[in-house]
Amino acid sequence: MNVTEQQILDRLAKVKGPDLSDNIVSLGMVSGVLVDNGKVIFSINVPAERAQELEPLRLAAEQSVNKLDGVDHVIAVLTGERKAGDVSPVRPAPTFDQASAIPPPMQAQASKAAAEIPNQKAGVPGIKSIIAVASGKGGVGKSTTSVNLALGLLKIGLKVGILDADIYGPSMPRLLGISDRPSANGRILNPLESYGLKVMSMGFLVEEETPMIWRGPMVISALTQMLREVAWGELDVLIVDMPPGTGDAQLTMAQQVPLAGAVIVSTPQDIALIDARKGLNMFRKVEVPILGLIENMSTFICPSCGERSDIFGHGGARKEAESVGVPFLGEIPLHIDIRSNSDGGTPITVSAPDSPHAKIYCTMAGQIIERIRVENDAAAKPQIIFE
Ligand code: ADP
Repeated sequence: MNVTEQQILDRLAKVKGPDLSDNIVSLGMVSGVLVDNGKVIFSINVPAERAQELEPLRLAAEQSVNKLDGVDHVIAVLTGERKAGDVSPVRPAPTFDQASAIPPPMQAQASKAAAEIPNQKAGVPGIKSIIAVASGKGGVGKSTTSVNLALGLLKIGLKVGILDADIYGPSMPRLLGISDRPSANGRILNPLESYGLKVMSMGFLVEEETPMIWRGPMVISALTQMLREVAWGELDVLIVDMPPGTGDAQLTMAQQVPLAGAVIVSTPQDIALIDARKGLNMFRKVEVPILGLIENMSTFICPSCGERSDIFGHGGARKEAESVGVPFLGEIPLHIDIRSNSDGGTPITVSAPDSPHAKIYCTMAGQIIERIRVENDAAAKPQIIFE
């Protein structure tokens, strides 16, 4: 028997709120009820500073729903209170102000649920190819590369969108100089536009400074909405700026999003490459083609004298690409113009389109499109097996 959202809400209406004044449903604390084949996920909004103290409330709610016929797995998540005035049609907005507010057993439970969510690789109507830009760790320039690649693709004449799935640290509003909030048409959000790109980012819905720890399944739910409940229109390419790392959330995302391929960004030194290798393996595990590896912050070029120095080493990503057998898409130097333009909301591909740096991004964009064509051709060809 399939349990309904209403049955879950009726059940939760029996759970008293924090100060026993009323039940958690009447108090408007419950949101984001998701039901999927006996698995139930919902969030309970509480004042962020009381998250730890209210853990028994979370447990009580979970146990209460668990008793319903047809329910075999429940995850209740405490979320920090949403600020009044936030435009937030996204179903759950789970925020935690402290990482410590999440007890380890819950983390394990959430990751188990993330792993259990069925693989739904249905395409997104209107979008021809979805490309993930990923990195094994943060701070390697993944978002800067994503946005400049997207603009490079636009220059080639394609219709391009960018989805900032870096839910832990969304940076597209800053990188693309956007301060507006998206309008909604019922449940469907209208993407914002910048420099001809269609853009959707979690950063449009929450403040940049808000520290957030997103629970695995909630990340997926938010991502699914940002992907499928946005009026993208017709796009040749949607670039997905992935969250850094290779945890459960990233793996599930790689599984859920119908990706044409993935681009991995790394800095040249060993330690970053170890992380990049993990990213690469993650995509391989879910059979997403690796379109190529990019070495960012490759050589430092001094803006005053033009002298080159290899601050983080040089050539590591090329060697890595060769050794693991994936295409190498090229090197982006560490240059002040890339940083200042990016962080100033005017990516170098638009602010200095004829600069050597902009040309590097455009060349890489062209290579990526070519790789997708090769991958598509390979997928379309019948496999001939000689015995
Ligand atoms: P990530 O998305 O991997 O966390 P970002 O794209 O936010 O990384 O980049 C981190 C910082 O490094 C930003 O300040 C950005 O402007 C800067 N940056 C990225 N790539 C370069 C580059 N090639 N040269 C100079 N600065 C860069």
